Amino acid sequence: MTLDVLAFGAHADDVELSCGGTLIKLARMGYKTGVVVLTRGETGTRGNAEIRAREFAKAAGLMGLAAHKMLDIPDGRVEVTWENKLKIVAEIRAHKPRIVLAPYWVDRHPDHENASQLVRASVYLAGLKKVGTEQEAFRPVKVVFCQGRFEFAPSFVVDITDAQSEKMNAIRAYASQFHLADQPVFTPAPDETLVGRPEFLTIIEARDRRYGARVGAKYGEPFLVREALKVDDPVAFFGSEYLWTIP
Ligand SMILES: [Zn+2]
Repeated sequence: MTLDVLAFGAHADDVELSCGGTLIKLARMGYKTGVVVLTRGETGTRGNAEIRAREFAKAAGLMGLAAHKMLDIPDGRVEVTWENKLKIVAEIRAHKPRIVLAPYWVDRHPDHENASQLVRASVYLAGLKKVGTEQEAFRPVKVVFCQGRFEFAPSFVVDITDAQSEKMNAIRAYASQFHLADQPVFTPAPDETLVGRPEFLTIIEARDRRYGARVGAKYGEPFLVREALKVDDPVAFFGSEYLWTIP
């Protein structure tokens, strides 16, 4: 199926956390959106591959995705190999997205850093006729990077005010990963992870609020592109709305 936007994540829930609000907003605007997750999450501290696949499908429904898929790259061992690039090239060619969303290339988790590198390389390779799969060559217009644990100075921020509560619902679909209000709190929990702490969802909400404030919106998600952005008409581009922004 042809998509407008295809987001890649190393693990199920990565995309929901970093750009879930934007995907929800785009789907609502009529764009066809999809998510491809490189691993099945079998190495995660909490849950297992089967539970995470179920949670991923539930989150995909909540985000209004037109397509979602899990690849079978081993969790914790997302390596920058030719074989892995070809798997991603096949997804890009199958879905022909105009925009590809990828994880930011600086991260605490090596799978995220390698996923970033793999996706960027594969977007280029997908456009080369003689590379790999039998499919027709296709190159997306732009790779846009999404923020994970480490911050970047964003190239732009998407106003997700009207999609933020749905984003939190999509995140809560990953019940095995996150602390939910009806779960008992163990201190310290035997399987405690950073994302599993009770305050984690509050931190995500606070981050969305902070980036929203930077563009005069209630909630926002930051994005980074490597190239300069071309603007034909700066007067029309900046519009007439004065933004009360917090830098
Ligand atoms: Zn991850």
